[in-house]
Amino acid sequence: MEIKEAQEMMKRIYYDRDRSRGIDRTVLRTFQELAELSDAIMINASHDEIVSEVADVFAWLCSLANLLDVDLGSALISKYDNVCSRCGKSPCVCDDTP
Ligand SMILES: [Zn+2]
Repeated sequence: MEIKEAQEMMKRIYYDRDRSRGIDRTVLRTFQELAELSDAIMINASHDEIVSEVADVFAWLCSLANLLDVDLGSALISKYDNVCSRCGKSPCVCDDTP
């Protein structure tokens, strides 16, 4: 599935609810989902549970992008375009990257 397809799918399923909730509360829900992913990693949850949490984070990011009228795929490629956004290399050679 392409990023655009995923974002459009989430829009079909949730856009009306997302719009009713608003950007501020959708940002909060996105943070909550990221915290759930973090918790799952920290407790060594099963791979299936982590996959589920990653899906939730991406789904909420799609919702947020839809509310902000941001095309995630275009945003990603315009900033990274197959190289690090800071050093312009692939793989990244930035000093602060582990
Ligand atoms: Zn870099």
